[in-house]
Amino acid sequence: MTRSPHFTEPAKKHLGQHFLHERRIIDKIVQAVNPQPGDRLVEIGPGQGAITFPLLDRHGELTVIEFDRDLIFPLTEAARAHGALEVIHRDVLDVDFGALAADGPIRLVGNLPYNLSTPILFHALGHAAAIRDMHFMLQKEVVERMAAAPGGKVYGRLSVMLQAYCRVTPLFDVPPGAFRPPPKVDSAVVRLVPRPAREVGIDDAALFAALVRDAFGQRRKTLRNALSKLCGAGAIEAAGVRPDARAEQLEVADFVRLANRLAAHAS
Ligand code: SAM
Repeated sequence: MTRSPHFTEPAKKHLGQHFLHERRIIDKIVQAVNPQPGDRLVEIGPGQGAITFPLLDRHGELTVIEFDRDLIFPLTEAARAHGALEVIHRDVLDVDFGALAADGPIRLVGNLPYNLSTPILFHALGHAAAIRDMHFMLQKEVVERMAAAPGGKVYGRLSVMLQAYCRVTPLFDVPPGAFRPPPKVDSAVVRLVPRPAREVGIDDAALFAALVRDAFGQRRKTLRNALSKLCGAGAIEAAGVRPDARAEQLEVADFVRLANRLAAHAS
């Protein structure tokens, strides 16, 4: 893709700036998002507009959230040729997605800054009811952890938290050469679709998050030891989980059942 004359600043490492330039990948992302009339699309980290402008060409309107002040003016200028762009100049972690969803759930898109990908994912989970779906470019290793099944080495806190709240579908891999400058790692695009609250079935979100965090905090420990601050072996057993199992052996549904049992007995 040719570089727009509006953008003159070099990429900033501390903001995780790796700009996509490979047309084939950009087209695949737009196809995966497949915007429909009436969709409220919100892009995190538009950068120099690699995904922004093709999405605008297709959809006509788009909201973007960008933290780098040097990009705000060039983005706004370059967008004029493509459609109606609303620019929110803010740290995405300070953006209330609920407020953007006043007219219905939003659809999030983003080639995320990799240094912030986990905080952004957890921030989105905190607003899951405001989000219809998400299409994110992340480090491939992070996508593998998000989608991992129990028993494997990479199954952990990220897998359980994401899968409890969303359907997680890895879509395709992206090599470092698709970006300028190229990152040191492979990347992948993933689709996340938040589950309706009744399907999630978690009674106390804070307790669930604490349970999952503690369970994987020292993953070699048995649950009886890893969860000793939260509950005793009797409570674990009463939820139908073996106290001498390790966190990596539990299904997402086991964590939900255990957290709900603890929540019921705490109240
Ligand atoms: N979407 C562009 C692309 O694909 O070429 C840029 C992607 S680049 C990997 C990540 C973008 O996120 C950059 O534009 C960066 O400035 C922006 N960014 C970094 N930290 C941010 C934050 N806390 N809030 C919002 N945007 C941020």
